[in-house]
Amino acid sequence: MAAATILADDDASGSGLGAVMGAKKVKAITVVRTGKLIPEIHAPERVKALTQHLRKLKPDGSAPYFKWMQQALPAPERLKRQICYGCISGCNRTSYESPEGEKGKLLCTAGDFYKPLARSFYGNSNEVPFEAARLCNRYGIDIMFIQSVARWLQQCHLQGLLTEAEIDLPLSRIGSGEFIEELLRQISFRQDFGQALAEGMAATAGAIGGKARELFTHGAYDKMDRPLTYSPRLYLPNALLYALEFKKQTALLHRIVYTLIPWKYWSDGLPDSPASSGLVQQIMKRYWDFDGDFTSYAGQAQLAKAIQNRVYAQDNLILCDKTWSIVLTGNPDEPMISPDLEAELIQAVTGIKMDTAEFLRTGERVFNLQRALYIREGHRGVAEDTLPDSVFNEPLETEHNNAECLVPGKDGRPVSRKGATLDKPEFEEMRRDYYRISGWDPATGYPTAKILKALELSEVAADLKHRGLIEDG
Ligand code: SF4
Repeated sequence: MAAATILADDDASGSGLGAVMGAKKVKAITVVRTGKLIPEIHAPERVKALTQHLRKLKPDGSAPYFKWMQQALPAPERLKRQICYGCISGCNRTSYESPEGEKGKLLCTAGDFYKPLARSFYGNSNEVPFEAARLCNRYGIDIMFIQSVARWLQQCHLQGLLTEAEIDLPLSRIGSGEFIEELLRQISFRQDFGQALAEGMAATAGAIGGKARELFTHGAYDKMDRPLTYSPRLYLPNALLYALEFKKQTALLHRIVYTLIPWKYWSDGLPDSPASSGLVQQIMKRYWDFDGDFTSYAGQAQLAKAIQNRVYAQDNLILCDKTWSIVLTGNPDEPMISPDLEAELIQAVTGIKMDTAEFLRTGERVFNLQRALYIREGHRGVAEDTLPDSVFNEPLETEHNNAECLVPGKDGRPVSRKGATLDKPEFEEMRRDYYRISGWDPATGYPTAKILKALELSEVAADLKHRGLIEDG
């Protein structure tokens, strides 16, 4: 199918590493330890102090979820916390064993993607969502893609656009174990209707045409047919963070959302929420150099770029998104994690002198290298840096964890963006702004030779120039 996957920790992942390994004909990588287990640390006492401080500040990310996850399972005692070695906070990472002896990890979308359909089909909570996730992993299929496909098939079936006889899928049983098993089998083996779906939803819906295609275009999906969660109509920087990527990069989207959702609870009057409007303003300024408001397009390009730089730099350090995207601590003495912490850690571990600006520059360098590779492989720049029409035309109805679609407006006052669309001319202006501050050519959306050289990517600039893709500069 159209998403290359790789297996890690008995789970399938779809971020492209599998495609790279496949292209190099590498099936697996094993790591054999020959020296010390822990490499030498430049300043061990400093690392220890920073880690202890961080552990004190970071709220236990596993506690709130665990109970809630247990409640959704018929055998809650079989759910275990599965916190990664050395984690500073924990999250909803758990493992589950079904009474039939099926074991597997259970977290985030993997645990939830089939829940609503299964609940409406069976009328109660059961193990089918867990089994659906395990099946996706075994077949090596992207769960978010299957989530979109199942929803779209359900809509088509309910509106009489596709019938069981036509496509040989048990459409009247969407939400059942039988349905998901058959859907995954057909896609994996490219049989029956699965042959079309393996080419992606856009291709399938386009081939069927009519109302089925309309339902697809009405739904909001990224370029890999994954749902556009954390809507760009609500969180404006996410419009660029989606448009500039091939597929949803959840870590990028979390950066704003993990501050604004606690703020939303604060504005609802929830006493435990640490995110007052004043604190959100401070975080936006200190972390992202953003002092605009979330109802205006002004400054959103700068905000999106700052998020990209930091997240790509954090990826260089292999920092977990689930804990490093949360900067609120809930501790009144130190309500936010210091934005200089990563640079301090690098210095303490490696001895390399690096300030925060240099650290962020490493993220910018990687993002530009990635962009250059995409362009070399045929990315059309500005023509592809866009979003589905539905985002510009269809009003926002609701949002996960923020049903009233609230964001802080001027002076931090809550403003609902319910009913809002993304304004196309404003989006295009925001994109131009982004190109400009990134040092990219606004006409093409390609990095210029000048910025590539400034980021120590001269050989990359030379290669793109040699291919006639960019001008000298
Ligand atoms: S927060 Fe990250 S490192 Fe910690 S348990 Fe969760 S996934 Fe693992």
